[in-house]
Amino acid sequence: MKAVKFQGVRQVSVEHNIEKPTPKGNEVLLKIAAAGVCHSDLHVIDGGISVPKGFTLGHENAGWVEEIGEDVTEFKKGDAVLVYGPWGCGHCKPCQKSAENYCNHQAERAFGGGLGLDGGMADYMLVPSSRLLVPIYDLDPVIAAPLTDAALTPYASIKNSLPKLMGDEYVVVIGVGGLGHVAVQILSAVCSSTIIACDINDEKLELAKKYGAQYTFNSKDPETAAHILKITGSKKAQVVFDFVGIQSTLALATQVVGLDGDLTVVGLGGGHLDWHAFAVPFGVNVKNPYWGSRAELMEVVGLARQKKIHIETETFPLDQAVEVYEKLEKGQIKGRAVLIP
Ligand code: NAD
Ligand code: ZN
Ligand code: ZN
Repeated sequence: MKAVKFQGVRQVSVEHNIEKPTPKGNEVLLKIAAAGVCHSDLHVIDGGISVPKGFTLGHENAGWVEEIGEDVTEFKKGDAVLVYGPWGCGHCKPCQKSAENYCNHQAERAFGGGLGLDGGMADYMLVPSSRLLVPIYDLDPVIAAPLTDAALTPYASIKNSLPKLMGDEYVVVIGVGGLGHVAVQILSAVCSSTIIACDINDEKLELAKKYGAQYTFNSKDPETAAHILKITGSKKAQVVFDFVGIQSTLALATQVVGLDGDLTVVGLGGGHLDWHAFAVPFGVNVKNPYWGSRAELMEVVGLARQKKIHIETETFPLDQAVEVYEKLEKGQIKGRAVLIP
């Protein structure tokens, strides 16, 4: 079979003639329908996220059950499923609550399939336990693949700040890419706050408007914070999501977040937020979330089945993985790119 391999910093290649794995015990072999192309892969490829080399990329995966190990009882060949991405130990307290994204043993383990272990940019993917599969029923697996991260990650962060997202409040979304364009939709679906979106690309801002942002700003404009504060007035934004995480977006986020608000930095862009008294307004919670729980992925599937969220996807053949990463790096992907084996 074919697979997209991370061979080391700045070394990605499509390999042929890789052996198709055979599941045993509680393992499941999936025939991959689609694998989403996340910006975190770019951080892996450029060495910003450190993982052991030599694995198959792709941590946003959907497919059909191809073969099950002898202990699997709840799935059968042909079932359409998503792969929950952050693979925990399965036994510690967070894992028992399905929050494997915060497994107590994370530091000792690879992050999961496509992030240190073999992922889904391949014809087939071996999933180590059937507990990591979430059924998608009538959803198209091609469009559903990015639900596992591009939707789950913003969903879990938004859920965390939900008590603050009331009708008289403002929420700012910085970066309307793969995650951000879904964040705007989730906010539109689950809360009544006024949504303000920023990006450096006007096409992405059009997408934000289409999905429910009331105000959009191109944050190349150095006056962006002032424009936002003109809308919010002195209360500022109760919740700010930064889906970029570089120095300039952190600076924007700290200028627009209000007293007792939430500043959630999802982006892993390498910016610094140095704490000192008055670095952020009093009462602000700075959050550094990682992905979401298995149960939350089921909730995301529910939102998608109700058509409350829709991932804008651009599809490419698996063989074009290297070119697609280049396009993503240049900001040329609208919504989410997915690779189809
Ligand atoms: P993406 O490339 O699809 O989107 C990034 C968006 O940010 C683009 O629309 C781009 O135009 C915009 N942007 C770039 N610079 C900007 C700036 N200065 N101001 C405003 N907007 C700007 O990326 P993605 O896949 O959505 O991922 C976003 C970030 O989130 C990445 O850093 C990724 O590693 C991270 N991430 C974190 C988690 C987590 O669990 N914490 C999960 C997934 C992704
Ligand atoms: Zn990701
Ligand atoms: Zn665990």
